[in-house]
Amino acid sequence: MEYKVSQKVKDTFEALSSLESVKKGLEAIKKDQDRCINEQIELTLIEAPTFHEEKRAEVMKKKMEELGLEDVHIDRGGNVVGVRKGSGGGKRVLIEGHLDTVFPFGSVKKVEEKNGFLYAPGIGDDTRALAMLLSCIRGLDTAGIKTKGDLVFVATTREEGMGSLGGMKDFLDDNYENLDASISIDGGDIADITYEATGFKTYEVNFYGIGGHAYGAFGKMANPLHAAARAVAKIADFEVAENPRTTFCVSNFHAGNDAGVHAIVPKATIKFNFRSNSKELLEELDGRIFKAIGEACDEETARWGKDTITWDMKQYCDVPAGTQDVHSPMVESTYAALESLGIKGNFSAGGSTNCNMAIDKGIPAVCIGRGYYPEGTDKDNKVHNLGEKYPVKGAYLGVQQLMLTALMCAGIEGVDSVLE
Ligand SMILES: [Zn+2]
Repeated sequence: MEYKVSQKVKDTFEALSSLESVKKGLEAIKKDQDRCINEQIELTLIEAPTFHEEKRAEVMKKKMEELGLEDVHIDRGGNVVGVRKGSGGGKRVLIEGHLDTVFPFGSVKKVEEKNGFLYAPGIGDDTRALAMLLSCIRGLDTAGIKTKGDLVFVATTREEGMGSLGGMKDFLDDNYENLDASISIDGGDIADITYEATGFKTYEVNFYGIGGHAYGAFGKMANPLHAAARAVAKIADFEVAENPRTTFCVSNFHAGNDAGVHAIVPKATIKFNFRSNSKELLEELDGRIFKAIGEACDEETARWGKDTITWDMKQYCDVPAGTQDVHSPMVESTYAALESLGIKGNFSAGGSTNCNMAIDKGIPAVCIGRGYYPEGTDKDNKVHNLGEKYPVKGAYLGVQQLMLTALMCAGIEGVDSVLE
């Protein structure tokens, strides 16, 4: 079905985009393309593996200060925060991209430019977003745009992997009451709009027994590896909902060693993660998995009856799930902004980005993309891969979309926030 924005959003967008200052802002962002790309390269060369973002954070802090943001500081979560003050009224809008990359120190040797693409680990995810924040601020300043609400620019820490959206979580825990909207930049293609939050949980579970000789102790004890296998077999048979999309994966299974090839192990470990766009289904799956683990231990214990298999667990990630109305003013505004740039918006089926944390706090939120991929181009940007690449041509369109979406939310002299 054709997606149509409501009359209210349409009218607001038309009023906003016909303002001379806004046109000037868009023009300034286009002119800023080369500088923005250079800054993206500069930041990519400052490596920032998750939990080690300090150096890159310091540079972002300096850049925010130079651009004249107020209250520039690094918060308790290591996030770099800077505020572009509004004139009053309007809505306070968070705009964020994450500092960290999935690559260990030493991965980035240089940034190579070839056939219209920049190549380097982390060039897109999410370093481009940081450059976009800065280019957006320059665009607003050059055009002398006064928003009503404050724009809060944040470069967040610990988004990836075991960071588990930690920087955003810390920032929101301290600030969510003062925020009315949140824009995350962490998608590949700027045509993609993410407004649903795929929640996920990642666990390690250890199974314990006595352990002994494979022959001598046989029949005298239960086998924790067999208990783990029983658990995995149960999980493997789970049926889950297709819609809202729900998934599960045992990703790691470990027990024993070569020296103990003829031993009943005393311990076996599995790691697994599961996801859903529905909070309820995520919780339900959590319950089912741990019930299966308990049953697997009981069955293995009952099979031999000589000792008891026990288990414990450690949780690595706990990212909340949630959804919003696809016709909320914020989602519609994001779509309208893209449309005005000649790009047909596309709604992603969920995602696990910092946007999840905002949705969980009940803040209207979207996650937008970083790169421009016109119809028919190869969209595989190889994120989380050493061959990661980023398309240069038309990159400014992403920054323009960001500015328009932010202005729709914050409100600007002459046009009220669409969230009013
Ligand atoms: Zn990312």
